[in-house]
Amino acid sequence: MNKNKKSALKVNKGIKQPSSVNKDAVKKIKLRRKQEYSVSDYVEGIIKGDRSILSQAITLIESSLPRHQVNAQEIIKRCLPYSGNSIRIGITGVPGVGKSTFIEAIGKKITEKGSKLAVLAIDPSSERSKGSILGDKTRMEALSTDENAYIRPSPSAGSLGGVARKTRETVVLCEAAGFDTIFIETVGVGQSETAVHSMVDFFLLLMLAGAGDELQGMKRGIIEMADAIAINKADGTNINKANLAKVEYQNALHLYPPKNSNWIPKVVTCSAITNHAIDDIWNMIQDYYKLTNENNYFKNNRREQSKYWMYETINNNLKFNFYNDSNIINKLKLLEQKVLIGEISSFYAAKILLDDYFNYR
Ligand code: GDP
Repeated sequence: MNKNKKSALKVNKGIKQPSSVNKDAVKKIKLRRKQEYSVSDYVEGIIKGDRSILSQAITLIESSLPRHQVNAQEIIKRCLPYSGNSIRIGITGVPGVGKSTFIEAIGKKITEKGSKLAVLAIDPSSERSKGSILGDKTRMEALSTDENAYIRPSPSAGSLGGVARKTRETVVLCEAAGFDTIFIETVGVGQSETAVHSMVDFFLLLMLAGAGDELQGMKRGIIEMADAIAINKADGTNINKANLAKVEYQNALHLYPPKNSNWIPKVVTCSAITNHAIDDIWNMIQDYYKLTNENNYFKNNRREQSKYWMYETINNNLKFNFYNDSNIINKLKLLEQKVLIGEISSFYAAKILLDDYFNYR
């Protein structure tokens, strides 16, 4: 894989510390790092659009320390009234399809128009370069120096549910900080699309021409979720192939039932390198926004998503607490063994464990 790729999903390697460092400077940095803001400081800073405070608040969301989680939840709660005023766009596609190049191309256009863009990512498999100074620095160079853009890499590796929840909470803070366009990038290889789809208004699938009939390993469900398919790299000698692919996908999309949004999914060709059709894609997203605002789907869908995330969070927390309960940990393996040798049924074993968990907590 190209190491110099620009993507919110990727992090730079850290640089080595020089052998002799200025100890006073290190002390100062440590002191500064230790400075802790109150919840009100965070909320005020976020609403003022202070990026440094926004970043630190997101770090609290990502932290698993109970103390941080308590503060993070309070910050989210207080930011909630200032959030929601944005369009949230999910972008997916297989590695190499050009997601980060595309985000840079369309992102520059968005910020040039005066909008404020936050680029977030969901990559449950990502490995953070732990402890490295530049570990958090992203690689989207043009956007990362753009004062109207804010790029945050994926929360560190963890369960998809956990990583996705943190990203959804991060959206609230970014919106409260004034970002009116939110991109959530994910790698089109697994379950993460479903998670992204459940937190965005518009879902864009990037594809390549001529990459095989089996729709590039994409599950049918992902095509079904898409509000638009953009066949990227429609440039140079690839243009004809891209146009053919466009017809193929248009035909494929006809096979799916109409969407509740009444939006008819579009297939376009584009080039993130030559900027071909990048404006058109942005205009298409505006059209979608207009249509779904008028027919109320936009609002209703967000409400449904909020409900979904409530249940998702309950389910995740129950599961996490159950499997981390010391009593359950002690009994689980024993009962699993009994099920394996056929001494008791799976259902009976589950009942014993669940009864134990709920009765003796
Ligand atoms: P990602 O893994 O999906 O984020 O893909 P990248 O944005 O890193 O792009 C992968 C490679 O494809 C890079 O070498 C890009 O320069 C190249 N690429 C991206 N978009 C285009 C495009 O529209 N046309 C061409 N010819 N190459 C592109």
